Amino acid sequence: AEKYNIAEELVHLKIQQHNPGTATGNEWFGAGERITSYSPVDGAPIASVTTTTQEEYEKVVATAAAAFKVWRTTPAPQRGEIVRQFSDKLREFKAPLGKLVSYEMGKSFQEGLGEVQEMIDICDFAVGLSRQLHGLTMHSERPGHRMYEQYHPLGIVGIISAFNFPVAVWSWNTALAWICGDVCIWKPSEKTPLTGVACQQLIAEVLKKNNLPEGISCLINGGAEVGAMMTADKRVPLISATGSTRMGKKVASVVGERLGKSLLELGGNNAIIVTPDADIKMTVIGAVFGAVGTAGQRCTSTRRLIVHEDVYDTVKDALVAAYGQLKIGNPLDQNNHVGPIIDTDAVQMYLDALEKVKAEGGNILVEGGVLEGEGYESGCYVQPAIAEAENHYEIVQHETFAPILYLMKYSGDVSNALEQQNGVAQGLSSAIMTNNLREAERFLSHEGSDCGIANVNIGTSGAEIGGAFGGEKETGGGRESGSDAWKVYMRRQTNTINYTTELPLAQGIKFDL
Ligand code: NAD
Repeated sequence: AEKYNIAEELVHLKIQQHNPGTATGNEWFGAGERITSYSPVDGAPIASVTTTTQEEYEKVVATAAAAFKVWRTTPAPQRGEIVRQFSDKLREFKAPLGKLVSYEMGKSFQEGLGEVQEMIDICDFAVGLSRQLHGLTMHSERPGHRMYEQYHPLGIVGIISAFNFPVAVWSWNTALAWICGDVCIWKPSEKTPLTGVACQQLIAEVLKKNNLPEGISCLINGGAEVGAMMTADKRVPLISATGSTRMGKKVASVVGERLGKSLLELGGNNAIIVTPDADIKMTVIGAVFGAVGTAGQRCTSTRRLIVHEDVYDTVKDALVAAYGQLKIGNPLDQNNHVGPIIDTDAVQMYLDALEKVKAEGGNILVEGGVLEGEGYESGCYVQPAIAEAENHYEIVQHETFAPILYLMKYSGDVSNALEQQNGVAQGLSSAIMTNNLREAERFLSHEGSDCGIANVNIGTSGAEIGGAFGGEKETGGGRESGSDAWKVYMRRQTNTINYTTELPLAQGIKFDL
């Protein structure tokens, strides 16, 4: 246990035993009830934070609204400079923050570091973008007129994030929102509040050093009720919410009711299609990593493998053999492949899913189960499982946030595989393993994958920040991170300027006085 002690990291990150959970920047407050964060790694309580009260929330919103007036007039490249300084802080604190992510959430230390690297990458991307944020110019139909569009800051962006990417999702939103001139209020998952406190401390130091006002980066803590303070609040024009489809439907209806904007990043049910022309070795590596990486708790985790009958037995045998090699244990020990899942409720959902797939006629190829004994005291370590199943099973149609892989067969043309792949309510990530150009192009075409992410000869999980990230259907339709995802954090304005002495009307309309 000594080896994995994170006391030193907590000191570096200024996490105390009892932390206020609400902040407007450098100012912290907290009179609400406490949430204690327990590590799924060893079941130990790490530290506590207070949940945000309605009164504290009011103070946060008022401070953020005042800060917006200053921030929106700060030139975008200067806002980029703040984000650049923040990325320096992240580089400095990469190891302790990565370790806290690993310990509080349960992903491997390497993945914890990877998450902080993603934060650094999106900051770098945002810094460059801060000198762009460009609109188009168009030719006016009226003589002596100029027409163009501009993007202006929106105001307060509310960010609600999930436990599984406790810090990266915040930065995907906030780095872009800040350079766009918005101020942010973040409610992290109630399962990972401490990584939220740590991130807030880091940005608050940067803001203070630059004499910027309180309110540009705010933190609130608590569960759905605290998230709901923001979703119902007209003063928050954009809600970016990452989490389950169940949560997204609620958030979308509350935000929609007030005609606010929402950016939704919800559940996936991601599949890899394995064609007769697939490289089997690559397929197995991609599928196993996709299914068991982060213990099956990525929104892009591989849930379904749709394999052509000609290679079905080969793939099946190779998968079963690979699962036999998996080492499950403390995620801070780099020899382990699979760590714990988030909590015992999640363990119960995993067990229920295995029961359901059996009840619906599924055939268990690699038996699941909860691990017991030394090193598994938290009760959160489970055996990654594989079941042969059919796409129409109720349980296969739902996302179970745990390491369960469903193996399915197709015959004939790749369109039969596509029908199964697209035959679920979610539309986040998808992949095809093939060396056949026709199959690959078909998969990427308008009659191919219906997902927001479609990969060839790569698995479903792991995305680069340079592309727009998100999915269709019940995944919510939002896009974050790279490409032109920044546009959602701004309002678009079309401007027409007449530099003549005449007032011609559009569409040639005459209006003589
Ligand atoms: P969750 O839906 O339980 O919680 C997510 C967040 O929403 C939490 O902060 C929670 O407090 C908040 N919340 C819940 N109900 C709310 C309400 N009514 N109003 C306001 N806020 C509310 O999800 P989770 O278990 O933390 O995360 C796992 C889920 O997130 C999976 O479905 C996964 O696929 C999804 N996810 C999606 C993406 C993506 O980019 N598409 C990324 C990460 C995770």
